[in-house]
Amino acid sequence: MTGAVDRAECGVRWCEEAGEHWTHRLYLASIPVVAGRWSLGVTIARPGAEATAVELTAMARRGTPVMVHLTTREAQQLAAAMNDAVKRVHRLIGRGI
Ligand SMILES: [Zn+2]
Repeated sequence: MTGAVDRAECGVRWCEEAGEHWTHRLYLASIPVVAGRWSLGVTIARPGAEATAVELTAMARRGTPVMVHLTTREAQQLAAAMNDAVKRVHRLIGRGI
């Protein structure tokens, strides 16, 4: 793996990744969902020399994680959509629907 670095040699101040790694990561949240059968993670990630992005990880308890890299704009759009969905659910519950 070209460019892999060891944590001790990693020059990225905010990186929490251990061992040899290509993608620098700062782990922010890990949220159990679907009665604990899935986990959603939010991480700041910078793969090699690429742009720093928000990484959304979905992982089933016994599965391979699916990681989606989002630009900061895309992450803001997703956050806004999630907030909007929560507000709509609360309004629907308020109407007894
Ligand atoms: Zn690193």
